[in-house]
Amino acid sequence: MARYTGAVCRLCRREGLKLFLKGDRCFTDKCAVSRRGYAPGQHGQSRKKVSNYGLQLREKQKARRIYGVLEGQFRTYYEKAERKRGISGENLLKLLEMRLDNVAYKFGYGNSRAEARQLVTHGHFLINGKKVDIASYQVSAGDVITVSEKSRSTERFKTFAENPKALPAWLEGNPENFEGKIVREPSREDIDVPVNETLIVELYSK
Ligand code: SF4
Repeated sequence: MARYTGAVCRLCRREGLKLFLKGDRCFTDKCAVSRRGYAPGQHGQSRKKVSNYGLQLREKQKARRIYGVLEGQFRTYYEKAERKRGISGENLLKLLEMRLDNVAYKFGYGNSRAEARQLVTHGHFLINGKKVDIASYQVSAGDVITVSEKSRSTERFKTFAENPKALPAWLEGNPENFEGKIVREPSREDIDVPVNETLIVELYSK
Protein backbone atom coordinates (compact mmCIF):
# COMPACT_ATOMS: atom_id res chain seq x y z
CA MET A 1 0.00 0.00 0.00
CA ALA A 2 1.65 3.16 -1.21
CA ARG A 3 1.64 6.39 0.73
CA TYR A 4 3.45 9.70 0.70
CA THR A 5 6.64 9.53 2.78
CA GLY A 6 8.18 12.95 2.14
CA ALA A 7 8.23 16.03 4.37
CA VAL A 8 4.70 16.62 5.58
CA CYS A 9 4.79 20.28 6.64
CA ARG A 10 6.02 21.16 3.18
CA LEU A 11 2.61 20.09 1.86
CA CYS A 12 0.79 22.60 4.08
CA ARG A 13 3.19 25.36 3.09
CA ARG A 14 2.61 24.52 -0.56
CA GLU A 15 -1.18 24.86 -0.08
CA GLY A 16 -0.75 27.98 2.01
CA LEU A 17 -2.82 26.74 4.94
CA LYS A 18 -2.73 24.32 7.83
CA LEU A 19 -3.86 20.87 6.73
CA PHE A 20 -3.35 19.43 10.24
CA LEU A 21 -1.31 16.47 9.06
CA LYS A 22 0.88 16.13 12.14
CA GLY A 23 -1.48 16.00 15.08
CA ASP A 24 -0.53 17.92 18.22
CA ARG A 25 2.36 19.78 16.61
CA CYS A 26 -0.12 21.57 14.32
CA PHE A 27 -1.52 23.41 17.35
CA THR A 28 1.83 24.69 18.56
CA ASP A 29 4.04 27.54 17.41
CA LYS A 30 6.31 24.94 15.86
CA CYS A 31 3.87 24.68 12.96
CA ALA A 32 5.73 25.45 9.75
CA VAL A 33 2.81 27.44 8.31
CA SER A 34 2.90 29.79 11.32
CA ARG A 35 6.66 30.08 11.12
CA ARG A 36 7.11 30.34 7.37
CA GLY A 37 3.78 31.08 5.79
CA TYR A 38 4.97 30.98 2.20
CA ALA A 39 5.44 28.19 -0.33
CA PRO A 40 8.57 26.03 -0.03
CA GLY A 41 11.46 26.20 -2.49
CA GLN A 42 13.57 28.88 -4.09
CA HIS A 43 10.63 30.80 -5.57
CA GLY A 44 8.29 30.27 -2.65
CA GLN A 45 8.20 33.94 -1.72
CA SER A 46 7.73 35.37 -5.20
CA ARG A 47 4.25 36.58 -6.10
CA LYS A 48 2.71 34.80 -9.04
CA LYS A 49 -0.60 35.23 -10.80
CA VAL A 50 -2.39 31.90 -10.50
CA SER A 51 -4.26 30.67 -13.56
CA ASN A 52 -7.64 28.99 -13.44
CA TYR A 53 -5.94 25.68 -14.03
CA GLY A 54 -3.53 26.45 -11.20
CA LEU A 55 -6.44 27.04 -8.82
CA GLN A 56 -8.12 23.78 -9.84
CA LEU A 57 -4.88 21.87 -9.48
CA ARG A 58 -4.17 23.29 -6.02
CA GLU A 59 -7.68 22.35 -4.86
CA LYS A 60 -7.20 18.77 -5.99
CA GLN A 61 -3.77 18.57 -4.36
CA LYS A 62 -5.17 19.97 -1.14
CA ALA A 63 -7.92 17.32 -0.98
CA ARG A 64 -5.42 14.56 -1.78
CA ARG A 65 -3.09 15.72 0.93
CA ILE A 66 -5.75 16.11 3.59
CA TYR A 67 -6.93 12.53 3.07
CA GLY A 68 -3.45 11.11 2.34
CA VAL A 69 -4.39 9.67 -1.04
CA LEU A 70 -1.99 9.26 -3.96
CA GLU A 71 -2.69 10.58 -7.44
CA GLY A 72 -3.89 7.36 -9.11
CA GLN A 73 -6.16 6.43 -6.25
CA PHE A 74 -7.61 9.92 -6.16
CA ARG A 75 -8.53 9.70 -9.82
CA THR A 76 -10.19 6.34 -9.19
CA TYR A 77 -12.25 8.01 -6.45
CA TYR A 78 -13.25 10.71 -8.90
CA GLU A 79 -14.31 8.18 -11.53
CA LYS A 80 -16.41 6.37 -8.94
CA ALA A 81 -17.92 9.66 -7.79
CA GLU A 82 -18.85 10.53 -11.35
CA ARG A 83 -20.64 7.21 -11.85
CA LYS A 84 -22.71 7.66 -8.72
CA ARG A 85 -26.02 9.51 -8.66
CA GLY A 86 -25.88 13.08 -7.43
CA ILE A 87 -23.28 15.82 -7.58
CA SER A 88 -19.86 14.44 -8.53
CA GLY A 89 -17.88 16.80 -6.29
CA GLU A 90 -19.95 15.95 -3.23
CA ASN A 91 -19.81 12.25 -4.05
CA LEU A 92 -16.03 12.52 -4.21
CA LEU A 93 -15.77 14.09 -0.76
CA LYS A 94 -18.21 11.53 0.66
CA LEU A 95 -16.11 8.65 -0.68
CA LEU A 96 -12.99 10.15 0.89
CA GLU A 97 -14.77 10.88 4.15
CA MET A 98 -16.02 7.30 4.41
CA ARG A 99 -12.57 5.73 4.20
CA LEU A 100 -11.91 3.68 7.31
CA ASP A 101 -8.78 5.65 8.26
CA ASN A 102 -10.75 8.91 8.15
CA VAL A 103 -13.61 7.43 10.17
CA ALA A 104 -11.18 6.11 12.80
CA TYR A 105 -9.67 9.61 12.97
CA LYS A 106 -13.12 11.16 13.38
CA PHE A 107 -13.83 8.79 16.26
CA GLY A 108 -10.68 10.14 17.92
CA TYR A 109 -8.32 7.25 17.27
CA GLY A 110 -5.21 9.16 16.30
CA ASN A 111 -4.20 12.79 16.39
CA SER A 112 -3.96 12.92 12.63
CA ARG A 113 -5.33 10.91 9.72
CA ALA A 114 -1.84 9.48 9.25
CA GLU A 115 -1.82 8.11 12.79
CA ALA A 116 -5.33 6.71 12.37
CA ARG A 117 -4.24 5.08 9.14
CA GLN A 118 -1.36 3.40 10.92
CA LEU A 119 -3.70 2.10 13.62
CA VAL A 120 -5.96 0.65 10.93
CA THR A 121 -3.15 -1.06 9.04
CA HIS A 122 -1.85 -2.53 12.29
CA GLY A 123 -5.16 -4.32 12.68
CA HIS A 124 -6.61 -2.61 15.74
CA PHE A 125 -10.18 -2.32 14.39
CA LEU A 126 -13.12 -4.55 13.63
CA ILE A 127 -16.01 -3.66 11.38
CA ASN A 128 -19.20 -5.48 12.36
CA GLY A 129 -17.04 -7.91 14.32
CA LYS A 130 -14.54 -8.69 11.54
CA LYS A 131 -10.97 -7.44 11.50
CA VAL A 132 -10.31 -4.91 8.75
CA ASP A 133 -6.80 -3.55 8.23
CA ILE A 134 -7.29 -1.71 4.93
CA ALA A 135 -7.08 2.06 5.35
CA SER A 136 -9.12 2.75 2.21
CA TYR A 137 -11.95 0.38 3.24
CA GLN A 138 -15.28 2.11 2.58
CA VAL A 139 -17.60 2.07 5.56
CA SER A 140 -21.37 2.00 5.01
CA ALA A 141 -24.34 3.34 6.93
CA GLY A 142 -25.10 0.98 9.81
CA ASP A 143 -21.53 -0.31 10.18
CA VAL A 144 -20.21 -0.64 13.71
CA ILE A 145 -16.51 -0.05 14.26
CA THR A 146 -14.91 -1.44 17.40
CA VAL A 147 -11.40 -1.65 18.79
CA SER A 148 -10.11 -5.22 19.06
CA GLU A 149 -10.18 -6.74 22.58
CA LYS A 150 -6.41 -6.99 22.69
CA SER A 151 -5.86 -3.32 21.81
CA ARG A 152 -8.34 -1.93 24.36
CA SER A 153 -6.00 -2.47 27.29
CA THR A 154 -3.12 -0.55 25.71
CA GLU A 155 -2.28 2.91 27.08
CA ARG A 156 -2.73 4.44 23.68
CA PHE A 157 -6.33 3.30 23.29
CA LYS A 158 -7.17 4.02 26.92
CA THR A 159 -6.03 7.62 26.31
CA PHE A 160 -8.17 7.86 23.20
CA ALA A 161 -11.21 6.56 25.09
CA GLU A 162 -10.67 9.02 27.95
CA ASN A 163 -10.50 11.98 25.55
CA PRO A 164 -13.41 11.53 23.17
CA LYS A 165 -13.79 13.95 20.29
CA ALA A 166 -16.95 15.84 19.35
CA LEU A 167 -18.49 13.77 16.58
CA PRO A 168 -20.13 14.93 13.37
CA ALA A 169 -23.85 14.17 13.08
CA TRP A 170 -23.33 11.13 10.84
CA LEU A 171 -21.36 9.25 13.52
CA GLU A 172 -22.43 7.97 16.91
CA GLY A 173 -19.82 7.04 19.48
CA ASN A 174 -19.64 4.94 22.58
CA PRO A 175 -16.04 5.55 23.69
CA GLU A 176 -16.31 3.62 27.00
CA ASN A 177 -17.03 0.50 24.99
CA PHE A 178 -14.53 1.39 22.25
CA GLU A 179 -17.38 1.39 19.79
CA GLY A 180 -18.72 3.72 17.12
CA LYS A 181 -21.50 3.56 14.59
CA ILE A 182 -21.92 5.02 11.11
CA VAL A 183 -25.44 6.39 11.41
CA ARG A 184 -25.74 7.55 7.82
CA GLU A 185 -23.70 8.81 4.89
CA PRO A 186 -22.27 12.27 5.55
CA SER A 187 -23.88 15.20 3.76
CA ARG A 188 -21.70 17.99 2.34
CA GLU A 189 -22.45 20.11 5.43
CA ASP A 190 -21.03 17.37 7.65
CA ILE A 191 -17.67 17.41 5.86
CA ASP A 192 -15.49 20.12 7.35
CA VAL A 193 -12.52 20.06 4.99
CA PRO A 194 -11.58 23.41 3.39
CA VAL A 195 -11.93 22.16 -0.18
CA ASN A 196 -13.88 23.60 -3.09
CA GLU A 197 -14.83 20.33 -4.79
CA THR A 198 -16.31 22.14 -7.80
CA LEU A 199 -12.81 23.15 -8.87
CA ILE A 200 -11.70 19.51 -8.71
CA VAL A 201 -14.60 18.47 -10.93
CA GLU A 202 -13.69 21.23 -13.39
CA LEU A 203 -10.11 20.00 -13.45
CA TYR A 204 -11.02 16.40 -14.21
CA SER A 205 -13.76 17.32 -16.69
CA LYS A 206 -11.31 18.89 -19.14
FE1 SF4 B 1 0.79 21.44 8.58
FE2 SF4 B 1 0.71 20.52 11.05
FE3 SF4 B 1 3.07 20.84 9.83
FE4 SF4 B 1 1.62 22.95 10.62
S1 SF4 B 1 2.57 21.39 11.91
S2 SF4 B 1 2.64 22.71 8.68
S3 SF4 B 1 -0.49 22.23 10.23
S4 SF4 B 1 1.43 19.41 9.27
